[in-house]
Amino acid sequence: MRIGIGYDIHRFNGRRPLKLGGITVPFGRGLAGHSDADVLLHAIADALLGAAGAPDLGELFPPGDARTRGADSRLFVRAALSRVRRLGLAVGNVDATVIADAPKLGPYKARMRRSIGRLLGLADSAVSVKAKTTEGFEPKGLGVAAQAIVLLESARGSRPEARGKGRAHPRATSHELRAARKRVR
Ligand SMILES: [Zn+2]
Repeated sequence: MRIGIGYDIHRFNGRRPLKLGGITVPFGRGLAGHSDADVLLHAIADALLGAAGAPDLGELFPPGDARTRGADSRLFVRAALSRVRRLGLAVGNVDATVIADAPKLGPYKARMRRSIGRLLGLADSAVSVKAKTTEGFEPKGLGVAAQAIVLLESARGSRPEARGKGRAHPRATSHELRAARKRVR
């Protein structure tokens, strides 16, 4: 078994849809970022990568990389999941917390769980999304933060894609990116 933790925070930026956990949350503001700025999926991707002992999201997909400008962040999670599977590992469960004073996320937690579960091939019961406010302290409504923790188990019975084969690329290869993008569609 392996365990990984991820954290991310993004500042609000007026003119974009607010993406959280792969869904669009109706709100007047979105988050600033090179990709679609889905702070929750970024935290989950980093937790997966951390548990796999892989380079972090910023190393795999450097901000400013033209290939991921405006990207759907589900592809980062898919790419991280591929790295996990290549090691012969499978995701056991994910637990995440989104920290934001606004918008109120309670009504969207179930949809976020389903979206993340679909992305990772997990039952809803293996995914938890909790929503917390800061009670008016940081980040004072300036943005949204997220934390995630994942447990990886040995993928017994399933065929690892290429157990331990090859050198781990510090940066996502174009092939990896294409494959992840295809799975997101
Ligand atoms: Zn991020």
